[in-house]
Amino acid sequence: VRTVRAISPLRQIVRAWRTAGRRIGFVPTMGALHEGHLSLVRRARRENDEVVVSVFVNPTQFGPTEDLTRYPRPFARDAALCRKAGVSALFSPDPPELYSAEYQTWVTVDTLSVPLCGRFRPGHFRGVATVVLKLLNIVQPDRVYFGEKDFQQLRVVQQMVKDLNVPVDVVACPTVREPSGLALSSRNLALSMEERLAAPLVRRALREAGQVLKSRRNVAQAKRAARTVLRKIPGGRIQYVDIVDPVSLGPPSRATGPYLLATAVYVGRTRLIDNLRVG
Ligand code: AMP
Repeated sequence: VRTVRAISPLRQIVRAWRTAGRRIGFVPTMGALHEGHLSLVRRARRENDEVVVSVFVNPTQFGPTEDLTRYPRPFARDAALCRKAGVSALFSPDPPELYSAEYQTWVTVDTLSVPLCGRFRPGHFRGVATVVLKLLNIVQPDRVYFGEKDFQQLRVVQQMVKDLNVPVDVVACPTVREPSGLALSSRNLALSMEERLAAPLVRRALREAGQVLKSRRNVAQAKRAARTVLRKIPGGRIQYVDIVDPVSLGPPSRATGPYLLATAVYVGRTRLIDNLRVG
């Protein structure tokens, strides 16, 4: 794997691949790679000739009070995992390479950025959409891979690619979980032993709500069922539990679904998100 820190050498590598007719898959990440990320890399390897992984903890998607400095950065380990996974190039720029002092251009995906995490992380999806478009312009992949774990992020990127006619296929990949049901996340590293034991309740809450939704078709009742389970997390604080339409992320369009159940919960200082589709 070639580790590249600057845009111009990456562009050179990509240009050579494109000239040779090689198809390029791209997996953008913030690093601290785990099996979730690696499942995207493996899919990208299957479907393309070359795979680029980016590791960039994007400062513009963190709010002023969020965990930017606390975010884990085990770079040597990430590079080793990329090598083992057969990644062609690892792009890991420092923030000034992507954001100069006079940086001033932003991508806003209006409606999809508002509900769910958008209510609690103002500016987050603007930061996400902006950095993803920048990375797509640098890497110019044929396909880009995103996890359904971050479902709203996936929808925001899909909409941006459609609205701005970005010539890339967005590939959605299923959430990889521990046997306990806990969705793999770089943030799980920050959980204490006790918190980690309680964290699978996040998934269990959504499953319970999903059962209620299937049997009673009652959104309010389903949300209450999720909250009842989430309240069992010691030191937990529910940010939101919501049930929305999986395409618009607005109110479910029909009483029969489909639905997206989504939640964000603080477990101690660590914010965990998860989602479940029903119907
Ligand atoms: P992150 O490094 O958290 O920004 O994630 C980079 C990409 O990996 C995003 O597309 C995430 O949705 C995806 N991802 C993170 N965790 C998982 C998981 N447990 N299963 C599948 N994809 C994931």
